[in-house]
Amino acid sequence: MRKISILGSTGSIGTQTLEVVENLNSIHVMAITGNSNIQLLEEQARKFHPELVAVMDEKNAEVLRERLADCDIRVVCGMDGLVEAATYEGVDTVVTSVVGNVGLKPTFEAIRAGKNIALANKETLVSAGQLVMDLAKKHNINIYPVDSEHSAIFQSLQGNAGNRIERILLTASGGPFRGKKREELMQVTAADALKHPNWSMGSKITIDSATLMNKGLEVMEAKWLFGVDVDQIEVLVHPQSIIHSAVEYEDGAIVAQLGEPDMRVPIQYALTYPERVKNPFPRVDFTKRNQFTFEKPDMETFRCLSLAYRALKTGGTLPAVLNGANEIAVARFLKGEITFLQIPELIEQTMDAYTVKQEYTLEDLLEADAWAKDYAAKVCFQ
Ligand code: NDP
Ligand code: MG
Repeated sequence: MRKISILGSTGSIGTQTLEVVENLNSIHVMAITGNSNIQLLEEQARKFHPELVAVMDEKNAEVLRERLADCDIRVVCGMDGLVEAATYEGVDTVVTSVVGNVGLKPTFEAIRAGKNIALANKETLVSAGQLVMDLAKKHNINIYPVDSEHSAIFQSLQGNAGNRIERILLTASGGPFRGKKREELMQVTAADALKHPNWSMGSKITIDSATLMNKGLEVMEAKWLFGVDVDQIEVLVHPQSIIHSAVEYEDGAIVAQLGEPDMRVPIQYALTYPERVKNPFPRVDFTKRNQFTFEKPDMETFRCLSLAYRALKTGGTLPAVLNGANEIAVARFLKGEITFLQIPELIEQTMDAYTVKQEYTLEDLLEADAWAKDYAAKVCFQ
């Protein structure tokens, strides 16, 4: 029986991972973690019987400890607790489904402890792709992508070991504002941006999808996961979200993975690879889904994507700064402090004010992230 830890079990990916686990019946959940939603953590703990529950917030952990006093479950807290869940004895795979750079340290420690990673937390690869991949190689562990596009690429690579990739076609839905120009985006609210046409996800990634930052982060994620150059990755807007991404080989053949937009499929593949296991999730009916369209991303209107390319090309600690600034920009937009169009402005100002380090350690990246967050929190607009 496979034994897993889920970091961020109360989130969109975390809850869907538990649905997959319930359906598979061959996985034991050893540890779960959350931040604010202790009601759900309690329900999950009672249903899945993990040995350990970690809560980021100390007060919430205390409340949960009391609530679970009748169960044989240890409740821990803070970053140490998250790391304990990530390195828990007996666990073979850690699902990293926390949101943001908070996933960095537990992912590193999980790899050092020899755990395989089912990676949803793309921010970790954006900030520290090189270090994560080097460490994974050193400890001989596997990183299974959960992100739907990367799972599609991973699936399209099966059976092609040794064949050179010519191009990766990274598909994008285009988000809720596809086709709109700057003038039309001046007044959009957080509620408008949270209405994603195809996917139901956590609020941060939903805003990232609306700004196209999500695709920028995914270009970086693809570069590190599959060891390709940026120039080999082509972002292709495909509003129907049925083709989840594709790989083109040197003979011109394109291999793609298709399906309904349902994260449970890539989550399941990350947990059962290389096996495919029957599930009751919805299937595509091509007679109904009979319109596939493609377009180029509008990088002038959606400037976050160009900023991501800039960070990727400059390299060093700049992607960590982009990522940190983006987390703050999204949080400030959700609070109504800045407008939608100020998201890229805030990120750009933060990147411009920063001196990039090309040689760096994990500590330097954590410092760069903290610096960017602090800077981006203070920028004021007229
Ligand atoms: P959610 O916001 O739905 O969930 C985030 C999870 O992280 C929750 O369990 C939350 O706990 C926990 N969390 C939040 N802040 C902290 C913190 N400071 N310390 C510890 N834990 C924290 O996010 P998603 O599930 O949407 O996304 C998770 C990751 O997966 C992101 O990196 C995202 O980019 C990626 N991803 C998501 C997809 C999706 O469909 N949702 C698709 C592809 C990738 P609590 O709820 O208890 O506060
Ligand atoms: Mg994705």
